[in-house]
Amino acid sequence: MSRKPLMTVTNIAKKFGGFRALDGISLVVEPGEILGLVGPNGSGKTTLINVISGLYYPDHGSIHFQGVDIARLPMHKRSGLGINRTFQIPKPFKSLTVQENVNLAYHYGKNSVMAPDEALEFVNLSQYRDHLASELNSSQQKLLDLARALATGPKLLLIDELAAGLNHQELETVANHLKNLSQQNIALIVVEHHLGFVNQLTERVIVMNAGKEIFQGSLSQAAQDPTVAAVYLGT
Ligand code: ADP
Repeated sequence: MSRKPLMTVTNIAKKFGGFRALDGISLVVEPGEILGLVGPNGSGKTTLINVISGLYYPDHGSIHFQGVDIARLPMHKRSGLGINRTFQIPKPFKSLTVQENVNLAYHYGKNSVMAPDEALEFVNLSQYRDHLASELNSSQQKLLDLARALATGPKLLLIDELAAGLNHQELETVANHLKNLSQQNIALIVVEHHLGFVNQLTERVIVMNAGKEIFQGSLSQAAQDPTVAAVYLGT
């Protein structure tokens, strides 16, 4: 590939106490690519997202984003460079309205291309703009979380378990929206249990187990792989 990678993660390790949550993981993300991150519970997927977004610093390893090593930059600086995320359990400001939540994210974003109204439209929440975030149900809160992340103007969006709790139609809509983002050259790393959703979105997945990559390729190739099959047995 001739273009430069957006992000190169090299040999990242992260321990909690004596437990190795990430054990030498490396990956490359191209601009506008959708990369799926799958693997059994506890394999380190969310920890990797936390280390890339800056919630935690790695013990070892480097993360080059557009050529700059960001591995030890605080979260807000990474956000300013264009790395943003959604949470498995969204944390909106519950006493603010839906619109105010997105306005705030937009205000903090340095390179936003998507205005708050547009971000709300994008996730089909415009009709709730004047509701308090606390009035939204859990799937709507996930969509609000996505709208907030979009309003910051990301170049790389880290999406943690978006599908859980969304119904079939919402999933379809969100998948189309995410593909659309990718066409606008926003790269996505999608952590997901819902493999149908991953399959719809991405040509390349990394399968993790025990903090390591055990497979990289298409999801259908992964399904044929004996190592992948072994770690999924009984899960
Ligand atoms: P996954 O997202 O693949 O389910 P996680 O990254 O959430 O896996 O967790 C990987 C392992 O690291 C788990 O055993 C989890 O209990 C542990 N872990 C994650 N975060 C912490 C933390 N802040 N403190 C201690 N252990 C953690």
